[in-house]
Formats: sequence, C-alpha cells, structure tokens
Amino acid sequence: MTQEVYDIAIIGGGPVGMFTAFYASLRQTKTVLVESLATLGGQVSALYPEKTILDVAGFSGIKGAAFITELDKQLHLFPVDIKTETTVVNVEQSGELFTVTTDIGEPFQAKTVIITTGKGAFEPRKMQVDGVDELVGQGVHYFVTNKQDFANRHVAIAGGGDSAVDMATMLNDVTHATTIIHRRDNFRAMEQSVNALNQSTVIQETPKKISHIEKQSNGQLKITLAQVKADTITNDIQVDDLIVNYGFISESKTIQGWAIQPEISGQVFKVDQEMQTSIPGVFAVGDASHYIGKADLIAIGFGEAPHAVNAAIRTFDPHRGGPGHSSSMVL
Ligand SMILES: Cc1cc2nc3c(=O)[nH]c(=O)nc-3n(C[C@H](O)[C@H](O)[C@H](O)COP(=O)(O)OP(=O)(O)OC[C@H]3O[C@@H](n4cnc5c(N)ncnc54)[C@H](O)[C@@H]3O)c2cc1C
Repeated sequence: MTQEVYDIAIIGGGPVGMFTAFYASLRQTKTVLVESLATLGGQVSALYPEKTILDVAGFSGIKGAAFITELDKQLHLFPVDIKTETTVVNVEQSGELFTVTTDIGEPFQAKTVIITTGKGAFEPRKMQVDGVDELVGQGVHYFVTNKQDFANRHVAIAGGGDSAVDMATMLNDVTHATTIIHRRDNFRAMEQSVNALNQSTVIQETPKKISHIEKQSNGQLKITLAQVKADTITNDIQVDDLIVNYGFISESKTIQGWAIQPEISGQVFKVDQEMQTSIPGVFAVGDASHYIGKADLIAIGFGEAPHAVNAAIRTFDPHRGGPGHSSSMVL
C-alpha cells in the first residue's frame, strides 16, 4: 500500500542530489531524498574523500569529505525526508503521480521526480596485470580514504588522469617517496594540476606500463616497468604500496528496470532547458543529465538543481510564483 505523497522525490544522494534536496526544502516543498549507499555524498564520499576540490564556488580548496559535511549541514537546515541504504528499484506513473518502489519499505508516491543518480553505481576500473587481484589489500589499493595511511611510505600511483595526478601531489606531502606511472608522455589533467606535479618531487615513470608485480619477502612490492609498445622491460621499482587510479566504470542496470524510461543519450537522460526529461514531471540533474555542452562537474550540477526544482514546482503548483532570493533584502 502506498502511504506518503511527496511534492518531489529526489533519487540519488550525491553532492548534486543533496543540494537539490536542500533547494527543494528552501522552497518549502515536501521532499524525499533516496540514496542507495549508507552515506550521502556520491562519488565524492566514495571515491575521493581526501582530494582537495578547487572548483566549487565559495571554497578556495576543500577536502571532499569536508565538502560533503558542509553540504550535509545545509541539507539539514530545513525538513527533508532522507532515506539512505535504500535503492529505488522502480518508478512508475500512476495517473498524475509517480509511484516510487525501493528495495526496502513501502512504496511511496510523488508529484514529481528528480533523478540525481549520476551514472549509476560505480566501481574502479581494474588493473589487468597477472596476480594483481590477489594483492588487493596487501599493498595494492583502488581507494584512498585517509592519506595518513600512506605516511612515510614509498607509494606508486598508476594512472595519468586528473585524479591520479592530484593524488600523487596530495600524497607526496606525507609519503617518504611518490612515483607516478603513466603510459603516455603527457598527463590528462587540469593545467594547474600538471604544473603542481612537475614542480613537486614526485618521480615520473613515463611513458611506461606495469608489466609485472611481485610481493617480496620484506613486504614491499617489486613493480617491473616496460616500454608501452615494444614491451621491453625498462626497470624495476620497489614500493610499499601501489594505488591503481585508472578511473571508474559505472552501470545503470537498476534504472534500466524502471517502468518509466525517459529518453537517454548514452547512459544518461536527455533534458530540456528546464532539466525536464522526455517524461513530463520527471527531471534529471547532475551527472545523470545530458544536453549539448554538458560537463560532469559539481558546480554545473549545482546550477542545474534550482532550475529543476523551480520547474517541478510549476508543474504541481503553477500559481505559486517565485523563486525569490533565499534572503529578503530591502535596498
Ligand atoms: C576521482 C574523481 C575526481 C573528481 N573531481 C572533481 C572535482 O575536483 N570537481 C568537480 O566539480 N567534479 C569532480 N568530479 C566529478 C564529480 O564527482 C561528479 O560530477 C559529481 O559527483 C556528480 O554528482 P551527482 O550527485 O550528479 O552524482 P554522483 O556523485 O554520481 O551521485 C549519484 C548517487 O546516486 C546514487 N544512486 C544511483 N542509483 C540509485 C538508485 N537506483 N537508488 C538510489 N540511489 C542511487 C549513487 O549511490 C550515488 O550516491 C570527480 C569525479 C571523480 C570520479
């Protein structure tokens, strides 16, 4: 049996879902935020809590975990129902309402739905070197949750994208030595990040690939490096830890099973200028949305959120007007 009727159901509690829910509460709607993981924060909490984020307005540099703490404080300023460890397994249209079914508890109904599921569940792209799977947790890592875990150790980072470059410079503050291993001469990272790497003491092993990894009797890892095309062995390095940073793959199987199927582009939902999908009353923001020129950045998702909420309100309360500013100012 269905119970609650919400004005807005927000599906996905990443940074963009959190801000969308806050903005919806600021506009005094009855809102629910549903997140499948135990904690809010999406990719930021799960994948880079230790990274310093530079490109969100109002912060001159803030660690991922601290940023999510700030978003959480903002989210709790006004009432919002928050359901964590709850996965939305179906959304179907029932007349003018949407019925949202989760993997636990009763289904509930909502007048509008805002999808903030990112690109679905995500996991790190695995390293394809023989024997590496057995060494995960024994020197090989896919996640860094606390940089102090690597204090005074020799750490190698495999990868050449934004995240690998930032991780190398960040960890280099605490490690005994840091080495970055990348298959190309150039790093695919923001110019500022590459400058910081080049000016640091991080050792660059490029263009090279990892050909073999072996755990030694002293607990260290012997990493054998080779030329990328010729496969010729170049050198060995001895490290305490290897962090694999080859990016992330995501899957959207749960969403593919929903009864409503808004039009997609690739893995994400096509939206109009009000962030509405092909289904009236269903919106998508953050990494879950697509339009020409879209970039997957937190700042962009934050800009999209008020658009979607205001448009959602117009669908069930066309006479409400607004939005005004969050504070009233008389000049
Ligand atoms: C390593 C790395 C570094 C990055 N650095 C930066 C940076 O410096 N600056 C920047 O702007 N961006 C950065 N990004 C990108 C940024 O993290 C994303 O743009 C942002 O997380 C998108 O937020 P979101 O809320 O749209 O989606 P996500 O963060 O992906 O959150 C989606 C949430 O939805 C949940 N979910 C999915 N399906 C369901 C379901 N069926 N039911 C319930 N919940 C569901 C997921 O569990 C997840 O918590 C980085 C990304 C990575 C991977």
